[in-house]
Amino acid sequence: MRSQPRDLLRLAHLNRMLRAAGWAASPDLEHGDHGGVIGLDADVVVWHDLRAGHWPGDRSTLDEYDDRFADRMAVATAAATGRPALAEPLRITECKRCPWWPTCEVALERAEDVSLVVRGETAVALREAGVRTVEQLAALDPAAEPPIPQPGIPFGDVIALARARQRGLAVVRRVPRVPVLRADVEVDVDMESFGESGAYLWGVLLRHPGGALPGDEPDGYRAFATWEPVPTDDEARSFAEFWAWLSGVRARAAATGRTFAAYCYNEQAENRWLIGSAVRFEGRPGIPPLAEVEAFIADEAWVDLFAVVSDWFLCATGKGLKRIAPAAGFGWRDPEAGGENSMRWYRDAVGMDGAPPDAAQRERLLAYNADDVAATQTLREWMTSPAVERVPLASEL
Ligand code: SF4
Repeated sequence: MRSQPRDLLRLAHLNRMLRAAGWAASPDLEHGDHGGVIGLDADVVVWHDLRAGHWPGDRSTLDEYDDRFADRMAVATAAATGRPALAEPLRITECKRCPWWPTCEVALERAEDVSLVVRGETAVALREAGVRTVEQLAALDPAAEPPIPQPGIPFGDVIALARARQRGLAVVRRVPRVPVLRADVEVDVDMESFGESGAYLWGVLLRHPGGALPGDEPDGYRAFATWEPVPTDDEARSFAEFWAWLSGVRARAAATGRTFAAYCYNEQAENRWLIGSAVRFEGRPGIPPLAEVEAFIADEAWVDLFAVVSDWFLCATGKGLKRIAPAAGFGWRDPEAGGENSMRWYRDAVGMDGAPPDAAQRERLLAYNADDVAATQTLREWMTSPAVERVPLASEL
């Protein structure tokens, strides 16, 4: 067990809100200021004492929360009353989903702020070290001692990212070549889930770069989907069909002496639902044993292209598939394609909000999923073609 600052602060927030609403247990009770964090699969609860000294200086979570809350209130009050701003934008992970981003982005761009290249605490440390702008960061010598300790990516890469940004380059190569596993039979896989409720769609794109044989499954896109709102038992059927198809293609490749590889982009999501589906639907028709799924995940023929991209490229505007695939020349048919929008389309596609299921939104989701697997296919073919050498090397910037 370990405490997560984010969990602790959220618990403190709920504790304070419940107290304000008159619903909290009395703090005089033995466990009055305890809170529980429920695991993603709802199988574990970790109880935290919000008065325990989890924070630097042995401060309690509630003390930390109260200080931060007072700070936020001061910032908001200054803004609401027209006094000088007590805070300035700094790009952090949360900016991606924050409604204020258009406002903050303009301010950050105007200042050429260093957080446009490195987010969060690293940007704060750089600002404190006097490196406040992209230009200042780009001007540093990659061979010299970094101005701040930099865990994670090498500081030379950070400088290269700043230089790439100045030149308007979305991607640069970190290294001349990175091997990408290719095979006679290749399958790109993309799964769509709805929050934690279930994985409603497994999309696959089959290709035979080593040549198709009589009796092979035809090349192209297939979708294994359930359109009953998740969670639903019908998800077991669609997952079993997907697994049977994938296993069949793999087995046929092996039986005919051909190599096989399957690809995804950022395997965490796919692996989470591969394992989750084997566990939740254990014993149902066609559901593989967990060990079989785990063996597939551990096999080097299951390739996470996100990891390859991370090894190979520096991406000035993010490493998401939507950011990197255009560098390989791929574009999505739907201009609104994206994870957040797909949630909304899904609600309409299955009639989650009481309206009749919307067939057009189903087609939209299928087209979006088909484009995602086409994007990973385009990306890996590009990475193994001479065209990738047109991307500048970081060391040349
Ligand atoms: S967009 Fe602005 S307000 Fe929102 S998290 Fe980022 S810096 Fe903060």
